Order: sequence, then C-alpha cells, then structure tokens
Amino acid sequence: MAKKASQIPVPKTLVITDRLRFGADCFVLAAGPCAVESREQLSAVARAVAAAGANMLRGGAFKPRTSPDSFQGLGIEGLRLLREASEETGLPVVTEVLDPSEVGLVGEYADMLQVGSRSMQNIPLLREVGRLGRPVLLKRGAAATIDELLCAAEYIRREGNEDVVLCERGLRGFDQSTRFLLDLSAVPVLKSRSDLPVMVDPSHATGRAQLVAPMARAAVAAGADDLLIEVHANPEEALSDGAQALRPQEFSDLVTQIRCMLPMLRRSLTQAETARAPEAQPSAR
Ligand code: PEP
Ligand code: MN
Repeated sequence: MAKKASQIPVPKTLVITDRLRFGADCFVLAAGPCAVESREQLSAVARAVAAAGANMLRGGAFKPRTSPDSFQGLGIEGLRLLREASEETGLPVVTEVLDPSEVGLVGEYADMLQVGSRSMQNIPLLREVGRLGRPVLLKRGAAATIDELLCAAEYIRREGNEDVVLCERGLRGFDQSTRFLLDLSAVPVLKSRSDLPVMVDPSHATGRAQLVAPMARAAVAAGADDLLIEVHANPEEALSDGAQALRPQEFSDLVTQIRCMLPMLRRSLTQAETARAPEAQPSAR
C-alpha cells in the first residue's frame, strides 16, 4: 500500500548491541573523528561525543584517501584503539572496511561495518560483508543514483544479511562552495522505496564545519533516521577532513538542538543514556 505523504515512515529495527538499535523510535547519532590518529586523540573525542549524547562511535582505521600521499589510517592498530574507546565509553563502533579480504578482521573489532562511498559498487566487498552478517552502513557513491544504492544494498541482502543502513553523504556537484551536494530529497525517496533506516552524513556532504549543524537539522526535518557527524578536539591538526570536523562544544550544541527536534518525529536518543550509565558493561563479543 502506498504511504501517505504526511506519514513519517518507521524503518525496520536493526539490532547493533544489547544497548543500541536502529529503527523504531531510536535515533542513532554516530560521531567521532574522520580517522583514528592516536589513543589520546580517539579517547578524547570518544569521551566528548559520549558525554554530549552520541550513541555510536565512528572512526576510520582503513582510510580511502584520494591521494596516496595522504594519511591512510593506522590499520589494525586503529581497530584496537576503537575497541578500547568503545569499552571506555560504552559506545558501539562503526568503521570502514576497504578490502574484501579484511572483512573478517574488521568484524572482530567493529559492531557495524561501513562500506564507503568509493566502495559502494565493489561487488566482492558487498558480498563479503553480506556473508559476515554484521550490520552494514552502506554509503551512497558520490555519483550513484538511488537505484544503484538500493541495488548495492540488495547484494548484501542476497547473502542473507538484512541489517543494512543506507547513508546519503552528498553527490558530486559543480559548485566548489561545498565539497559535495547533499541530496536531502534522497531521504524521503529512499524511505518510500525501502524499509531500511536512512542515515545522513552532513560532514562529508558539506566539507565545511560551519555548514554541518544547519544541514544536520535539515536532515532530521527531512525524516532522516540517523546522523553521522565528524568531531575532532583539534580540527586544525586533524590528519584528515579537519575542515569539516566539529569541535566537541559545537557538537554538544548541535545535539541539544537535535534533542529538541526529535520528539516531533517520535524519536529519541535514549539509548545513549543507557550507554553512558556507570553500570553499563562493554558489549559481549
Ligand atoms: C568516511 O565516512 O570516513 C568516509 C570516507 O566517507 P565517504 O565514504 O562518504 O567519503
Ligand atoms: Mn572523513
């Protein structure tokens, strides 16, 4: 049956840990640095985003950089640091996997595997994350149509893994004023064509810290189920994507605003409270 235009579609539920799920009334706010750079850097950001109310930690250990001269990530050491930060804060972790042969390895450390925009049509990678069965965050390619994104999700589902979250992260545009062009209409389109949760990433889409909060608020208003936000304690010194990183205080201010918007959409960040409770234990793995 066609959905009424006025309805806010509720996506399917997707369980990440005993404390976090996507879908139903839960809004997932994944935040953290673009790249894991060191124990100190990650721990500071992880504690700050948890205190602000994020309910998931993001951070790249294997970085898909445009230039081979740029920082490529800490690899396995980055995965270990993510696990440590997860145990320190109680936040589940999402991190990118680039290589089909590393899916099992990344799966040992991460609660959710990210397939990045550059890899959206890497069919062997899609099949491999499908076989692993761990939840997948699938980012839309910068020049991919909605049909292509949904087909990519289908490759994962055909391997028996239904736990996919779709992420709009901006398309290649002609105007250099923003890094990419955030396609917010993709949110209601995706939600009308699929029951998968839809996340929006205003950090990579805009590429500029001052545009992140307005577009995050717009994404919530458009019906996004979840957000992905890059945060760094010291953006000037970030090894990647410093220009788009929010400082912890800016992130905290944004969370306050989002908290005000969520009741209108019958969603909440309540899982974050559980994750931060002192008695909360690291997830059993
Ligand atoms: C990221 O989220 O770390 C990333 C590299 O994003 P994208 O694949 O959207 O460029
Ligand atoms: Mn980044």
